[in-house]
Amino acid sequence: MTAIKEPSFRESVDLMFNRAAALMDLPPGLEEKIRVCNATYTVRFGVRLRGQIHTFTGYRSVHSEHMEPVKGGIRYAMAVNQDEVEALAALMTYKCALVEAPFGGSKGGLRIDPRKYEEHELEQITRRFAYELAKRDLINPSQNVPAPDMGTGEREMAWMADQYARMNTTDINARACVTGKPLNAGGISGRVEATGRGIQYALREFFRHPEDVKKAGMSGSLDGKRVIVQGLGNVGYHAAKFLSEEDGSLVVGIIERDGAIYNPEGIDVEAVHQWIVKHGGVNGYPDATHTAEGTAVLEEECDILIPAALEGVINLSNAERIKAPLIIEAANGPVTAGADEVLRKKGTVIIPDMYANAGGVTVSYFEWVKNLSHIRFGRMQRRQEEARHELIVKELERLDRYLGDAWSMSPDFKAKYLKGADELELVRSGLDDTMRIAYQAMSEVWHDRDDVDDLRTAAYIVSIDRVAKSYRAKGL
Ligand code: GLU
Repeated sequence: MTAIKEPSFRESVDLMFNRAAALMDLPPGLEEKIRVCNATYTVRFGVRLRGQIHTFTGYRSVHSEHMEPVKGGIRYAMAVNQDEVEALAALMTYKCALVEAPFGGSKGGLRIDPRKYEEHELEQITRRFAYELAKRDLINPSQNVPAPDMGTGEREMAWMADQYARMNTTDINARACVTGKPLNAGGISGRVEATGRGIQYALREFFRHPEDVKKAGMSGSLDGKRVIVQGLGNVGYHAAKFLSEEDGSLVVGIIERDGAIYNPEGIDVEAVHQWIVKHGGVNGYPDATHTAEGTAVLEEECDILIPAALEGVINLSNAERIKAPLIIEAANGPVTAGADEVLRKKGTVIIPDMYANAGGVTVSYFEWVKNLSHIRFGRMQRRQEEARHELIVKELERLDRYLGDAWSMSPDFKAKYLKGADELELVRSGLDDTMRIAYQAMSEVWHDRDDVDDLRTAAYIVSIDRVAKSYRAKGL
């Protein structure tokens, strides 16, 4: 088969941006200002491991500083490169704007295969990387706040936060320098599952709109819908688990690194997860058929396809053969610009990444707020009533003033926050609220404008418009 030349990931994001921008009335200069990445920092550092020096290459890209801090995860993978972090940073800008998280967009990456290192080695590497970034304000609670992404998790965030705190011993807000931390290191309940939860809430909201469901040639609810998920990492696992355990969906296919498993009767997601933890892959899992050529399963019959791993998995080489009428992009950029066009023509409905996987950054925002407030969630009201502690009341007022319009992303979150609701309840309802409001903003554009025929373009229009407004209000 001859390879089909496709644009790079960043070019693909730019093409999608341009498609939406062409339908908007932006001054041409502003359009370009919003599209381009402001800066990308590349660092090469050495770490002495196993008796010799290993050199690592890392990046932190800042796409847009129309709001600060800028926000976005740090990825550990061998495929990390400048083009990729820039594409991902741009998506963070649009994602945050869409869910009204008051952040600009950023993303980082380290070229490393984390599975090749021992835990203490990873700690050494991560601390050194964090040191390099923090020294340049690329980790900083008011400037740039990283979070987990592929290949990183709570453990890496705890090391990074601690590294920052050691370098900034007088910064009382040090904990807010990174989100996605473990609970006992300033994290928040529900952050680990947040992106998967967000996928579930996004789909629930989609199925609350029968006319949208009809556009995908379907009807009814999530109950009984056949799902194929690609990638059973943190996001794919939680999404598939919640959909099958709480919404009655049937997970019929799971695609992993070592092939795919398929069972039209449904697969027990938790059992497969345990199998992977134990055996390192899906191969040998007893209650399904295994296919060595995993990506072929993307083309199997199903109702909802959830690409939840890498970018570019649905591309010009397979788009035509994708049968799912509904794709929800749990990963960032899983559908290339070329494939997007093919699928649009076929009538496939795509719930775009910048909306679909925004649950992570939404709960990151709650964690950041929690860290800045210095008060444990759920404790405020009681303390206010019991002690009438003036400082706490003042702190809440300060936070309320500081957040200002940003509360509007979730009125429910604000109400529950100020009331002092239990943390997990607060996080879940705030996330649900956020996903609903953002969906409505996006689908309104989809319905109201004759020149917009897909959710992605609608999402871009909403986001670009918000970023443009903020540049107009504040200057460049
Ligand atoms: N890495 C996640 C994303 O792509 C989360 C970012 C964050 O929480 O800042 O959205």
